[in-house]
Amino acid sequence: MTEGVAPARRLDEAEQLRLGTDIQRRLGVKTSRDEPLARFTTMRVGGPADLFAEVRNLFELRAIVRFARSRDIPLTLLGRGSDLVISDQGIGGLVVKVSAQQVRVEDDLLIADAGLPMAKAATIAKDAGLTGLEFGLAIPGTVGGAVWANAGAHEAEMADVLVRAGVIGPDGTESEHDATGLGLAYRESALKHAPEGRPDVVTSITLRLRPEDPAVITGRLDEIRRWRQAHQPLGIPSAGSTFRNPPGDSAGRIIDSLGLKGLREGGASVSEKHANFLVNDQKGTATDVRRLGDRVRETVARETGIELVYEVVFAGDWSGLDGGTG
Ligand SMILES: Cc1cc2nc3c(=O)[nH]c(=O)nc-3n(C[C@H](O)[C@H](O)[C@H](O)COP(=O)(O)OP(=O)(O)OC[C@H]3O[C@@H](n4cnc5c(N)ncnc54)[C@H](O)[C@@H]3O)c2cc1C
Repeated sequence: MTEGVAPARRLDEAEQLRLGTDIQRRLGVKTSRDEPLARFTTMRVGGPADLFAEVRNLFELRAIVRFARSRDIPLTLLGRGSDLVISDQGIGGLVVKVSAQQVRVEDDLLIADAGLPMAKAATIAKDAGLTGLEFGLAIPGTVGGAVWANAGAHEAEMADVLVRAGVIGPDGTESEHDATGLGLAYRESALKHAPEGRPDVVTSITLRLRPEDPAVITGRLDEIRRWRQAHQPLGIPSAGSTFRNPPGDSAGRIIDSLGLKGLREGGASVSEKHANFLVNDQKGTATDVRRLGDRVRETVARETGIELVYEVVFAGDWSGLDGGTG
C-alpha cells in the first residue's frame, strides 16, 4: 500500500494538455484529463486522474510506460481496480488502465497479456482441459494485478502456477522473472515495493497448468461459484478482503468476534456477510472507507493486540485525511 509514501506530483492544466497531445500524436493512444476513477474500481470511490489512458495491447502498454519514464511523469497502473481504494483527491500524474488481453494456450501453458481478467483465464483454461487456475474465478482482477498481489483463493495462488512474467523494471528494460524472482509469498511480491509513481510493470504472464477432464474442472468452478455466493457480499461495491490474515488466524474471524459487523462510517460499512469486507453500500466516499478501515484496525489492536495489515491498496493523495497519512 501507499501509506506513508509521498503522493505523486500533480500535473497542472498546461502539462496535462501538452502531454495528452504528445501521447495521442506519438503513440496513437487517447487520453483524458481529470478523468473520474471511481467507475474503474470495484469499490466505486475515488477522485480524478490528472491524465488517464487505457491501453488495449502490449505495444501501447510498452510505449506509454517508456513515454512516462522518459518525461519523468508519475505513473500509476490500473487493472480492474478490485484491490484499490483511490483517494477522493484522486491520483497525480498519468494513470494507465491495462486492458491488453491477448491469450493463447500452448500444450499445458497459458500465455496471456497482463490485462486479461482472471475469471476469463480460468474459463479459457477449463475449455482447453487444463486444471490449476480454477481459483481465478474468485478473483475479479486482471492476471497482471494477480501477479502483483500474488492473489489466491481456495488453497491456491498465483505462485503455484506462474512460470514467468514479463516485467518492465525501473530502468525501462523488460525482462522475465519466475515466482521466486518476483518474491511471491502470501499476498506479497517485490512489485508491491516499487517506488510510488515508478511501478514495475507486468506485461505478460505464462502459467503452467495440468491436463484434466473439463467436466471435473467445471465441477470445481461451480463449487467455487457457490462458495462465493454464500460467503461474499457480491453485487455490492467492495475491494475484497480488507486485511491480510494474521499468521494462523483469519482477519474476518477476529473482526466478527469483536462484534464489528455492521460498523459504519458514512456510506461504508463492515459487511454483515463477511467481516473482512468493507462495503460501499450507501454511496460512500474513499474517506469513509479509509476511516472505517482504520477504526477496525485500531479496535482489533486495542482489544486483541493484533496489528492487522491492509491487503487493499490505498492509492493517490491521502494527505487530507485527519492530519494526513500521506
Ligand atoms: C469481491 C472481491 C473478491 C476478491 N477475492 C479475492 C480473493 O479471493 N483472493 C485474492 O487474492 N484477492 C481477491 N480480491 C482482490 C483483487 O481481486 C486481487 O488482489 C486482484 O489481483 C487485483 O487485480 P486488479 O487487476 O483488479 O488490480 P488493481 O486493483 O487494478 O491494482 C492493484 C495493484 O496492482 C497494480 N497493478 C495492476 N496491474 C498491474 C500490472 N500489469 N503490472 C504491475 N502492477 C499492476 C496496481 O498498480 C495496484 O497497485 C477480491 C476483490 C473483490 C472485489
